[in-house]
Amino acid sequence: MTDSRKQVVLMKGIGVSSGIVIGQVYVLERGKIEPAQFCYLDASETESEIERFKNAMRASRDQLMRIKQRMEKDGKGKEHIRIIDAHLMILKDNMLINDTVKVIREQKVNAEWALKTVLNDLMEYFEKMEDQYLKERAMDIEHLVNRVLLNLMGRKHESVSSIQEPSVVVAHDLAPSDTAQMTKGTVLGFLTDVGGKTSHTAIMARSLEIPAVVGLESITRKAEGGDTVIVDGTTGTVILNPSESVIEVYKRRRERYENYGKALFHYKDLPSETTDGRRVRLMGNMEIVEEIDGLIEHGAEGIGLYRTEFLYLNRKDLPTEDEHVKAYRQVAKKMAPHPVVIRTLDIGGDKFLSHMAAPKEINPAMGLRAIRFCLKNIDIFKTQLRGILRASAHGDIKVMFPMISGIEELRRARQILEECKRELKGEGKAFNPDIEVGVMIEVPSAAMIADLIVKEVKFISIGTNDLLQYSLAIDRVNEHVAYLYEPFHPAVLRIIKSVAEAANKASVSVSVCGEMAGEPEYALILLGFGVDQLSMNAYSILRVKRLIRSISHAEARKICKSILGFATAKEVEGFINSKLPGLYKEEFWS
Ligand code: PEP
Ligand code: MG
Repeated sequence: MTDSRKQVVLMKGIGVSSGIVIGQVYVLERGKIEPAQFCYLDASETESEIERFKNAMRASRDQLMRIKQRMEKDGKGKEHIRIIDAHLMILKDNMLINDTVKVIREQKVNAEWALKTVLNDLMEYFEKMEDQYLKERAMDIEHLVNRVLLNLMGRKHESVSSIQEPSVVVAHDLAPSDTAQMTKGTVLGFLTDVGGKTSHTAIMARSLEIPAVVGLESITRKAEGGDTVIVDGTTGTVILNPSESVIEVYKRRRERYENYGKALFHYKDLPSETTDGRRVRLMGNMEIVEEIDGLIEHGAEGIGLYRTEFLYLNRKDLPTEDEHVKAYRQVAKKMAPHPVVIRTLDIGGDKFLSHMAAPKEINPAMGLRAIRFCLKNIDIFKTQLRGILRASAHGDIKVMFPMISGIEELRRARQILEECKRELKGEGKAFNPDIEVGVMIEVPSAAMIADLIVKEVKFISIGTNDLLQYSLAIDRVNEHVAYLYEPFHPAVLRIIKSVAEAANKASVSVSVCGEMAGEPEYALILLGFGVDQLSMNAYSILRVKRLIRSISHAEARKICKSILGFATAKEVEGFINSKLPGLYKEEFWS
């Protein structure tokens, strides 16, 4: 029930995950901890400031104890509980307490500033250490200090998994590790101040079919816990405190949307084939094992992209080789007889390992990400490759390297793969010696040498999310430049055309696994340019199949030829929209 005394607020953001939900707001403190404000104290104020600091330490301890009890009650693993114990230990650490008290007393500054000063000194000290274990402890200290800081500032710190009631989550920002913890029944939808359409947080929302709008800029200032909110993840519209009549309108829209989704199941068992008989394999993208059933339900013919980095998130240690084997074997068995493309660890950018201090890079998207990280951390890489190889004995598994920017990186990665094969052979462990190797084309330099790359691999997959990020110079998680995300940009069209042509010429399979693949208007041109496989989230599979079954390959090729003559994305869009009615138009908005 909406409180009629509250003001109705209409906001427009970036709709990143379709669907309509109407629910109650739950404000989650997930934003960056604001820098502690510096404040001088009178000599008479220092003792009460010390008391305030100690109270915040006590409040943090009480919160941690409650979390620990809840975890024990819910039967959470020992690993999770150990993290809480580690934080509780740090709370008792005399150095942290005494040093902070000393800074407050001697420098006469506020507790937030004093604590931050002590933390910075500690971090500097830890950063110089080589020992991985100690580096991990540094992360624990930072997390704990952030909790105390939030308590000092009177703010809450919660994890997504602690939400109990079905709610629409409102947060300044959410990390992919947060979205990975969401469950559909509890998180009805989410809204954030920041973010872009191809951020991994948005991608996860689509995979989990949780309606979401990002880039709202000020939703955390406008929404309050308990407010009624309408989220339209398709159009990016958000209405806070709507009237009953508006709620009714959206309930009808939601019904039409859901009916349309159900009607699409008509296509589930029909082949993904154009009217003139060209087959386009539609596969699923997945991050966590729980997504497979949804993909199978929507008729995915295999996994075209398994983002394995999610195996590494939300934990304090690295997955073991056996854990890799178990996860990949499970996916391969479930998807059999279809293939599963396992992409090796793509950490960095907007995804960080929780157990390792993220390297402080000015441009993480262009830093030590993906294959670059793996080639620098060979042990981590080999553990995963051995896991993939061993799982390949149990199903049709292929391996794919992300963010390749040149042939040398590819050759080095292959060398390490061969090394793993030799080791496994020596140990008498089973694997597929002919496992197919492919690369993602997502860096412009790789796109430009696609003709050379296809000579060395069995398949390529175009990662349009990063390819657009790097070729149009738009940070994919930055809402301020989201308007420049234009898959119809003539530069993007030319790049895709030339990559697909290089693959076709060499008779190497070419797929697209970026978000473009899952939107019918883009799928149309990917088909026309000669892409033979598309990989996407469950929600998109039947929509794209409907499009493919409604057009001939010859017509799609003709459309592609025409759009190459346009100078702007808007012109291309106008042309495509003029062709679409009758092909796939989604009528539920009318
Ligand atoms: C891409 O870049 O298009 C892609 C599929 O990889 P990710 O979104 O995980 O970076
Ligand atoms: Mg990518």
